[in-house]
Amino acid sequence: MTLAATFSLDDLVADLDDWSVVPADVESASRDRSGSPIGPAAVVVRAGSVEQVQATLRFAQLHGIAVVPRGAGSGVAGGAVAGVGSIVLDLSRLDRIVEIRADDQVAVVEPGVITADLDAAAGAHGLFYAPDPGSVGISTIGGNIATNAGGLRGAKYGVTRDAVLSLDVVLADGQLITVGRETLKRVTGYDLLGLLVGSEGTLGVVVRATLRLLPRPVATSTVAAYFESIDEAAAAAIAVRASGVRPVVLEIVDGPTLAAIDALEGTQLRANGAAFLLAQSDGHAAAIEAGVIADVLTPLAAYVETSDDPVESARLMTARRQALPALERIGRVVIEDIAVPPSRLAEAIRGIHAIAEETGARIFVFAHAGDGNVHPILVVDDGEEVLPPHALEAVDRIFALALNLGGTLTGEHGVGLLKRDWVTREVGGVVDGLQHAIKSLFDPAGILNPGKAI
Ligand SMILES: Cc1cc2nc3c(=O)[nH]c(=O)nc-3n(C[C@H](O)[C@H](O)[C@H](O)COP(=O)(O)OP(=O)(O)OC[C@H]3O[C@@H](n4cnc5c(N)ncnc54)[C@H](O)[C@@H]3O)c2cc1C
Repeated sequence: MTLAATFSLDDLVADLDDWSVVPADVESASRDRSGSPIGPAAVVVRAGSVEQVQATLRFAQLHGIAVVPRGAGSGVAGGAVAGVGSIVLDLSRLDRIVEIRADDQVAVVEPGVITADLDAAAGAHGLFYAPDPGSVGISTIGGNIATNAGGLRGAKYGVTRDAVLSLDVVLADGQLITVGRETLKRVTGYDLLGLLVGSEGTLGVVVRATLRLLPRPVATSTVAAYFESIDEAAAAAIAVRASGVRPVVLEIVDGPTLAAIDALEGTQLRANGAAFLLAQSDGHAAAIEAGVIADVLTPLAAYVETSDDPVESARLMTARRQALPALERIGRVVIEDIAVPPSRLAEAIRGIHAIAEETGARIFVFAHAGDGNVHPILVVDDGEEVLPPHALEAVDRIFALALNLGGTLTGEHGVGLLKRDWVTREVGGVVDGLQHAIKSLFDPAGILNPGKAI
């Protein structure tokens, strides 16, 4: 959809207040971490209140201007990338933790709250906020909700959707609605809450959320195992899932990524094996569960280490936590995000390695083995804004592989701008039509993050 590319800044300023409208910042605020080069936007509105969000959307609807909601811009799918002439609606100033109700185990927050800050605040009440994307220290709750973000603890606690009880959302015409209830169960009406979570800013702007908190685990216990091959590590992950224990973390890292971590950290991880599996249990039974996992892994692995000590656990987690920073040292990273049924994990990783070999693309792999979410990381030369043809071919083939294995294009990062060409191939024409009909119903003028997600 083409939207008007010009409007008078003075009109917008008159509707808001001048310090909320920032014409200078448009270059950086038009980008996210995908590196997608479009834009720049015409202006950045840093909303300081729900009323300003409403006024911005009413203004945009009246003038037919695209609005791109923005949290921290840490997205990797191009969801927060803003086109020429658009308004970036930055929600990061709405960053209050309104209340934490320990008796209900819920938090009420504004969208600009940094994910780790909510978790820390919940900790003061003996609680925690389970979704923990790798970007937990920079991403916002609004962005997490809009992308249905996942994280390392997803194997046991699921994704952001599992933690959202209700949302206040400003619609494209400026109306404020509430979807969901602050209850743990609810059936009334269609599940608009479920629809809005993961809608990538295309159906409404989240301005407040009530989120489920959980009792903070009293202990964690970590098991690290190394294998001769990625197939063996994937088979071991399946064995852990079948053991009756549900680990909070279950992660796989491939050999080339281990070598990259060694180069960054001065460690010798790759010497331990060609694939790494990390499991962590939490709660009162953490040590018992870790013992069960270690028993399962010992006959399968080349080497197994277990620890209940927090410092030692942190060391064992290094191989997973440092995977992305290690690859970012090599060049520009393009983070893909397919998910497959967990039983197809080995086929997926093997397929990605074959694609790397056949296309010549440099691809590293780590995966949330607990839920089948695989991150093939393409590394291209720094400064290569547009992907070279062999990398594009590799990405295309990775998406095809995911669908062939009964999987999906994106487990947690969203479709954004980058994966739109593939959506119909995954969902089918009829569902695609329904999705566009829903978009038209919520946003008839097509002003909310046009060209994204569907
Ligand atoms: C180092 C690194 C590690 C990462 N690890 C993970 C990971 O483990 N798991 C994971 O899921 N992701 C991960 N990500 C991706 C990213 O951090 C997540 O997608 C995150 O949820 C984006 O939050 P944000 O606040 O930066 O949102 P942005 O990037 O600003 O926006 C993302 C999308 O949400 C929309 N949006 C933002 N705020 C709102 C709002 N209030 N209302 C409506 N729409 C809104 C935007 O329009 C856009 O479509 C990682 C990124 C980096 C850089």
